[in-house]
Amino acid sequence: MKPKRISTIIVNEAIATDINSFSQIECPCCGMEILSADGHSGFCQFCEYYTNTNYIQNVPDTVQKGDFTAALKKADLPAASRILEKMVVANKPEIFYLAGNFYAYFSDSIYMDVNYASEGFMEKNSEHRTNSEFEFNSMHLTSKSREYFYKLLKITNAEKEDQSIVFLRFMSYMKLKKHAEAEWELNSLRTLSKDAMLVQYASAVFYARTEKEPDASHIIPLLQNKTTNAYYYLAKMLINQKQFSYAEELLKKINKSTIMPSAIYESFVLKGLRAASGL
Ligand SMILES: [Zn+2]
Repeated sequence: MKPKRISTIIVNEAIATDINSFSQIECPCCGMEILSADGHSGFCQFCEYYTNTNYIQNVPDTVQKGDFTAALKKADLPAASRILEKMVVANKPEIFYLAGNFYAYFSDSIYMDVNYASEGFMEKNSEHRTNSEFEFNSMHLTSKSREYFYKLLKITNAEKEDQSIVFLRFMSYMKLKKHAEAEWELNSLRTLSKDAMLVQYASAVFYARTEKEPDASHIIPLLQNKTTNAYYYLAKMLINQKQFSYAEELLKKINKSTIMPSAIYESFVLKGLRAASGL
């Protein structure tokens, strides 16, 4: 059966949303700004961490976090990496989560640069991807990313009654592409969480990243709540359906409003766009 095309009403409503009017709140995990329609809750565009200022959130603050965020905003990824290596000694799930996401992003940005931006440098490209002598080669960064997600899973095994920890475990399994384990955590979150947004977002992430032709119904509650990241997931679904002009219009709008870099954009949407359009 052919998947239902996403309704143009949904797409036009998304495109018409005034993201510029959203408030900015700081992501307690990575320090980037989250664009929030209600001014108190949202998902980070960089690491997808959930914050809601109505609750007290116990995220470890490290002295280096401000420097890390500044380096990330300048897209100085080698500098951000050196700072992060000092932060991870705190042995905290949120910092391992940040490190897992950061190294995946770093790896993708190197891989995509060398793969697409430098015509005629193929030897150099493969060297950057695999040369173990090059500190920031893409494969090495991918394995560092995986290592940190596994560290998070290891140290949080005993604290599964906390909804934010279960969400981090769910996201980590998703990023490790261990979908059966992720689904198990998603079901725990459905039983445990008192926050509907967290469950809706996790479900949307699960279906958008596991189904080949995800149905737009999974992201409708997020779009209704004007969750900024839902526009990225919608763009990816439009790309899957080869509705490139709508996807482009939507992406132009989000990218103009959000503070880059966005890991969801680079690692998920852009990768999907390049695969779908054969670039
Ligand atoms: Zn973040």
